[in-house]
Amino acid sequence: MKPSFHGNACGDACCLRVQDLSVKIGSDRILSGVNLHVHCGQLVALIGPNGAGKSTFLKAVLGQQEYDGVIAFSAPGQRGRKPKIGYVPQSPSFDPGDPVSVADLFVCCQGRWPAFAGISRSKRQAILEYLDRVHSADLIDKRIGTLSGGELQRVLLALALEPLPNILILDEPLSGVDAEGMTTLMDMLDEIRRTYDLSILMTTHDFSMLPRYADQVVLIDRQILCAGTPDEVLSSEEFRNTFHLRGGMAE
Ligand code: ADP
Ligand code: MG
Repeated sequence: MKPSFHGNACGDACCLRVQDLSVKIGSDRILSGVNLHVHCGQLVALIGPNGAGKSTFLKAVLGQQEYDGVIAFSAPGQRGRKPKIGYVPQSPSFDPGDPVSVADLFVCCQGRWPAFAGISRSKRQAILEYLDRVHSADLIDKRIGTLSGGELQRVLLALALEPLPNILILDEPLSGVDAEGMTTLMDMLDEIRRTYDLSILMTTHDFSMLPRYADQVVLIDRQILCAGTPDEVLSSEEFRNTFHLRGGMAE
C-alpha cells in the first residue's frame, strides 16, 4: 500500500466506513453486502463493468440514494460533525456555443447572484485561487464548452475543492480524457490528497493508472467481488472473469 499522508496514524479512525450496504431500486437489487473502509489520505478506486452499481454506490455515499446498512464518517478532530464531501459527477456535457465562461460557472455554482450581474474583483481573485489549486488559473475566461476533456475535469475538480472537503468523490473522471491528460489529472489528485489530507473515492475503467496511484482497489458487480491492493485485484481470478481476460488479453 502506498504511504498515505497519515501513514498508520489514523488507526481505525477512517474517514469513511461502509457496512453491509444494500440498495434496491424498485424490485431490482442493485447492491448488496458492500463493506468498505476509506482511510484519511487514501485514494480508493472502484472498478467494475457497466451497470455494476458504481455510480449508485457513490450516490448512496453522497446521500442522493436510499440504502440499507451503515455509512459513517469520521475524521480526526471532527468527531460528531458531518464531513464535507466534494463531488465531480460523471461526464457532464456543455454546448461549445454556450457563452458561459469558467468564471461564470464558479459564480453560478457558488454565488447567490446570477453570473450576468457581473463578477467583482475580489470574487475573480478568489476564483483564480480556486483554479490555481489545480494549476488551471489560465482557464478562467475560457468558455466551458470549448475546454478539452482534461481541462473540464480540472475545472470541475477545482469547483469540488471549494470549500475544501474531507472526502472527494469522482465518477469516472478519466473518461473522455486523453492519455497525457489522464496522467496530469491523476498526478493532481495525488498532490491534492497529500496537500489537503483528504480521501479520494473514484470510479474508473482505466486500470493502467491503478498500480501507480491507488491505495485500494475494489472490484464491484452488484456486490464486492474482490478488494485489496491494485496488484492483488488486477491479478485476481475475479478480475479476469469479470472482464473476460485470458493471459492479460480481452477475449
Ligand atoms: P455503473 O455506474 O456501475 O455503470 P449504475 O450504478 O449507474 O452502474 O447502475 C447500476 C444499475 O442500476 C443499472 O442496472 C442501472 O440501470 C440501475 N439504475 C441506476 N439508477 C437507476 C434508477 N434511478 N432507476 C432504475 N434503475 C437504476
Ligand atoms: Mg457509472
